[in-house]
Amino acid sequence: MAESTELQARKTIHAGGEWRAAVSGATREILDPADALPFAVVAEGDEKDTDLAIAAARRAFDEGDWPRTPVTERAALLRRVADLLVRDREQLGRLEAQDAGKTVEEGRVDIDCVADAFRYFADLVAGEAPGRVVDAGSPDIHSVVVHEPIGVCTMITPWNYPLLQASWKIAPALAAGNTFVIKPSEITPMTTIALIELLVEAGLPEGVANIVTGPGHSVGARLSEHPDVDLVSFTGGLVSGTKVAQAAAPGVKKVALELGGKNPNVVFADACATDEGFDTAVDQALNAAFIHSGQVCSAGARLIIEESVRDRFVTELARRAEKIRLGRGTEDGVECGPLVSEQQRAKVEAYVESALQEGAVLRSGGKRPEPSPQRPENGYFYEPTVLDHCHREMRVVREEVFGPVVTVETFRTEDEAVALANDTEYGLAGGVWTTDAGRARRVAGRLRHGTIWINDFHPYLPQAEWGGFGKSGVGRELGPAGLAEYRETKHVYQNLAPKPVRWFAG
Ligand code: NAD
Repeated sequence: MAESTELQARKTIHAGGEWRAAVSGATREILDPADALPFAVVAEGDEKDTDLAIAAARRAFDEGDWPRTPVTERAALLRRVADLLVRDREQLGRLEAQDAGKTVEEGRVDIDCVADAFRYFADLVAGEAPGRVVDAGSPDIHSVVVHEPIGVCTMITPWNYPLLQASWKIAPALAAGNTFVIKPSEITPMTTIALIELLVEAGLPEGVANIVTGPGHSVGARLSEHPDVDLVSFTGGLVSGTKVAQAAAPGVKKVALELGGKNPNVVFADACATDEGFDTAVDQALNAAFIHSGQVCSAGARLIIEESVRDRFVTELARRAEKIRLGRGTEDGVECGPLVSEQQRAKVEAYVESALQEGAVLRSGGKRPEPSPQRPENGYFYEPTVLDHCHREMRVVREEVFGPVVTVETFRTEDEAVALANDTEYGLAGGVWTTDAGRARRVAGRLRHGTIWINDFHPYLPQAEWGGFGKSGVGRELGPAGLAEYRETKHVYQNLAPKPVRWFAG
């Protein structure tokens, strides 16, 4: 391809304050999923580059100033990073849109959320008491519990929210005083590289922030198993997450996993009793399933609806799904971009095919759209797809599709709705739509998922923990628990009047 030969390979590995190419000299083209053309070339690191970056992070932790820098200074640096993100919002938002196949508006919102994460963790650490004094039952004993950085953290992130997922790890890790090495998804590394540049610009000492661009099987695996690493934080799919946990186990490293979801959106008939209620529930079901073409860990991919309103609801959902404007995310008026890769689209197509073979009824989509001026022929587009008459034995209902596909199941009673919504090995998020406040609280209380939305879908707050039950993960990001992941807890017990204990007589 002519375009690729004109692109300069960038030095995208940052270790110990130096930007470098891969030791092997290997590079990778980064494709725009809207036209499958390369728009950047980055270093393709491997185990050797990873070892260099981990060594730099280890040195910076053991010998550098950052872990011992006063908390107010660390918080000030995080706030400077947030300001730089705001300064570069437009450029970063566009870069994220191009790399991950989002609309520019989604890209901008992502950058705002990234800045919010930096501000939140800055405020959280700056406002904390330095330790918790424990009453040891004697005036001669001073006992205090303190928190310290855990050490060298490695971070592995996915392609759907490249910078946002990175920020949920980097911001708390830095706030707590750690050093880190991050590996973004090999297909969407661009904004994470840009963030490392901003951290350097904000004044972070050398060796604290390191990045290795490259694939999971080499860089990711090494980041998970390396003996000098204290914590591995991973966001991605169940299969890779399991490998990370296995690689980390012999070293007894702390592991945090944010994995997939198969998220129920439960709609009771009473939520649709008025025209306004019906319109809101349909609109939000559309958003739950199709924002970012469903490539969202918390996508409302399972519509679980009370039988009496199913026909009307699904007809309207399918009608509106067909009207979603697909195209290159940088084009005006486009509402949904392409899928991130050819491989991802092939996976989605296989799931739809299996659903149809297993008896699902196609109500919209189910195919690639016609090319148009806004939709280049080579882009990885796929139409928003509504699959009716689904049931829990179908693969498309049980497994994470991670594409623009929503399945429809029905229930008659509240117990049935809860049983369906909990019938998944995952447990990341779920929504409940009802005008009955008592039912809303009852159902929310019974759902086994890490986030429950009542009469809403998708919002999250940096102050509130995010994470999953079951196979959706281990640990939490955001909120105070999201900071605690990056810390060790130490109890310091000081005897102010030491005396012999005379336990042994001799
Ligand atoms: P993935 O598991 O394929 O890849 C995620 C990351 O892991 C990438 O950087 C990849 O290179 C790396 N990786 C792959 N194999 C590895 C290995 N053996 N060792 C170490 N690292 C390895 O996931 P993806 O396709 O990039 O992202 C989609 C998945 O991420 C979905 O399952 C989605 O639900 C999940 N996700 C979860 C959350 C959450 O908050 N729970 C958020 C976003 C995405």
